[in-house]
Amino acid sequence: MSSTPFGDAILARSDELARHSDVPLADVPAGAARPLTVTYLTEAHRACAADLAAWMRDDGFDEVGIDAVGNVVGLLRGTDPAEPRLLTGSHYDTVRNAGRYDGRLGIFVAMACVRELARQGRRLPFDLEVVGFAEEEGQRFAATFIGSGALVGGFDPAWLALRDADGITLDEAMRAAGHDPAAVAALRRDPARYRGFIEVHIEQGPVLSRAGLPLGVVTAINGSVRFVGEMHGMACHAGTTPMGQRRDAATGVAELALYVERRASQVPLLVGTVGQMHVPDGSINVVPGRCRFSLDLRAPGDDLRDALVADVLAELAAIAGRRGLTYTLQETMRASAAPSDPVLQRRLERAVAATGTPVLRLPSGAGHDAMKLHEAMPQAMLFMRGDNDGISHNPLEAINAADTQLAVEAFLHFLTQLAEEPTP
Ligand SMILES: [Zn+2]
Repeated sequence: MSSTPFGDAILARSDELARHSDVPLADVPAGAARPLTVTYLTEAHRACAADLAAWMRDDGFDEVGIDAVGNVVGLLRGTDPAEPRLLTGSHYDTVRNAGRYDGRLGIFVAMACVRELARQGRRLPFDLEVVGFAEEEGQRFAATFIGSGALVGGFDPAWLALRDADGITLDEAMRAAGHDPAAVAALRRDPARYRGFIEVHIEQGPVLSRAGLPLGVVTAINGSVRFVGEMHGMACHAGTTPMGQRRDAATGVAELALYVERRASQVPLLVGTVGQMHVPDGSINVVPGRCRFSLDLRAPGDDLRDALVADVLAELAAIAGRRGLTYTLQETMRASAAPSDPVLQRRLERAVAATGTPVLRLPSGAGHDAMKLHEAMPQAMLFMRGDNDGISHNPLEAINAADTQLAVEAFLHFLTQLAEEPTP
């Protein structure tokens, strides 16, 4: 028998689930790999839900269903109905041209634990609810966290009017998939019935890979703020305008980008990015008169994030003042940091240590379903190393069976701890 049976089984299931994609086979050039794209409520998406539900039944869940937003929900009953439930899971939708493990790993790890408990004929005292969330990535409609949002009362009925690229409304897509939008409100969970939410996810970054460690425990999901802006100077002749007499919008943005890099680097775990710089109608022989830019600022705490934002905005004003520029700036997104529940985080740390690997704590730079559940209940996350330096949202995304085996063993240990030591 293989020494990594859980890992092997999860890699096999990941490959099998990846055969469903929105990209028609006819559009794939001969010999090329079919890109993996599974967006909300497409045919491929519904086929994924059906596979997950069938596998859950096979794994020994007591109840399996697909809810009104398309979440696949499996329940393993505990021995004591008075005990609060544990909720876990992650998303099964993908970005366009995705990897196979983003989201799906967290569903498969929890399912592997249920399969193992069933094999041992063991029951936990508390109910274990595993959810494959239908939508997290915001690819088809301009809404994100449709799946996990529904569990915390975060499904906005105004979304039903949103249209996808083909003009189909969310309302039409849901009805075509057999879902009743009016039934979504009832999916809201009563936090009093839950002890918390745990999400297992690939790290989607290089930290664990570079530390040479398979698992990490998340301390907080970073809070973030995004802006888009435009710097205004004066377009003029690149040959005749002396350097001291220019009002170059692009060098103003470049100076801002360098400041963001410097300021974010001063405090561990802060990240700041100017991801877009665009000179509209720019020419090789014209000093840029306009430059559009974006700002993405993240930190593991709202206070750290807000201090970063305040400094960046002050520097933006100072740069513009020095250079004779003006600018517009619009905030497009603001999300609060979601610190992990200290008790659940400590339990995950003990579970990782029990697998014989050192415990590395790290913040999550990416948003996750756990961020949504955080609005209603305590949450914590277990990260698993990605191979290829942790690359994600890319077909090069990769994991290995040995790491995956350890993730399942850590999760099983976590469940046993909760069962045997109710007070940590
Ligand atoms: Zn994800």
